[in-house]
Amino acid sequence: MREHGVGAPELLGRLERRQSSEPDVHAGRLFGLVYPSGRSDLEDLIVEVNRRYLFGNALNPFRFPELAALEAEVVSAVASLLHRPETGQRAGAMTSGGTESILLSMLVHRERARAGGIELPQILAPASAHPAYAKAAHYLGLELVQIPLDGAWRADAEAARSLVTARTAVIVASAFSYPYGIMDPVEELAAIAAGAGAGCHVDACIGAFVLPFLKRLGHDVPPFDFSVPGVTTMSADVHKYGYVPKGASVVLHRADDWFDLQGFLYGKWGAGLYGSAAMAGARPASPIACSWAVLNYLGLEGYTEIVSGLAEITARLRSFLEGLAGVEIVGDPIGPVLAVRSDPDLDLHAVADAMADRRWYLNRNLDPRGLQVMLSPGHASVMDEFMADLTTSLAAVRGGASAGRRHDGDARYS
Ligand SMILES: *Cc1c(COP(=O)(O)O)cnc(C)c1O
Repeated sequence: MREHGVGAPELLGRLERRQSSEPDVHAGRLFGLVYPSGRSDLEDLIVEVNRRYLFGNALNPFRFPELAALEAEVVSAVASLLHRPETGQRAGAMTSGGTESILLSMLVHRERARAGGIELPQILAPASAHPAYAKAAHYLGLELVQIPLDGAWRADAEAARSLVTARTAVIVASAFSYPYGIMDPVEELAAIAAGAGAGCHVDACIGAFVLPFLKRLGHDVPPFDFSVPGVTTMSADVHKYGYVPKGASVVLHRADDWFDLQGFLYGKWGAGLYGSAAMAGARPASPIACSWAVLNYLGLEGYTEIVSGLAEITARLRSFLEGLAGVEIVGDPIGPVLAVRSDPDLDLHAVADAMADRRWYLNRNLDPRGLQVMLSPGHASVMDEFMADLTTSLAAVRGGASAGRRHDGDARYS
């Protein structure tokens, strides 16, 4: 800690320099991590709401009952989007992100299993599921069992059936998966879970604000939400395709009495009863208020319009990639997340290096080795340049111009 403070203009100048050495989050050069909507009206609203709520705290619902009501309204709006039966009871909570939503869901499934006498409950999750399930197993004392994928890079339902044991607390299905953008067979996995007396968590962290709108646009979207019998909990990230800045996700339970199991109450200290509905204590108010504002500003109609544009650029990129010799889309992705693989003589990670030289930051998959692209609506304005640079980079790698490069991106944090 320094002795004497530094003036604001000097500090802002330093931050500007430091930030300018990193990718510009508005420039559409990233594919994942950030989800630019490309809508300045929406961003202006978010900045204004954020300004008003930046110093708030959502810890105590009795001190800030209106903020608590905003959270309840967000939870209820997302619950209705995902067809959770309307019961008048609270369905879940807002959390800091998909990981916290998943941790809470796994916690509730653990508590249910323990109440049934199971000491070491199991999570059955597809090999393509997000690392948050491994993290949940690590934090919560659960065992993670991976469901292998079938030839279409979906969770293999028959394999899942044979992996179920008396200790299975929950079966996970992604709608859709992070590495490939592919739907798991939700109906089959939920039925297997129900038959085994286990829960089924549908991970709609990326899909929740895409799939309902693709469906409204007439795309073929298999049932993936609470409309599917056996689905007990869901996670939906507002800070991805909901276009709210980071720190906003929703965890939902089908049953009215499950929400209580994720909460925590404590009274054995000198400051009275302490309670929280999620993992954090003090919680930022801004993600709640921004989620409330964005959901109400866009409505179903606004999201549908945005997803329509997103589907358009996805189709463009997809047919461009399908037209490239030696490159193939992995499986049949349902939405704006596409993975590609290549012939053995073409190293797509070298292509990613060549693209990084042009300041495009693609994601790298290891199985199958290749690239993953997560499109946002904001990419619409850079698609032509992106495809032109991809063509150039592919040609450079094929021509050997980029051989022997470093492949610096193999470790991923996304
Ligand atoms: C992003 C993501 C998560 C984790 O969410 P965070 O907000 O990064 O914690 C979980 N599952 C899926 C499918 C995701 O895409």
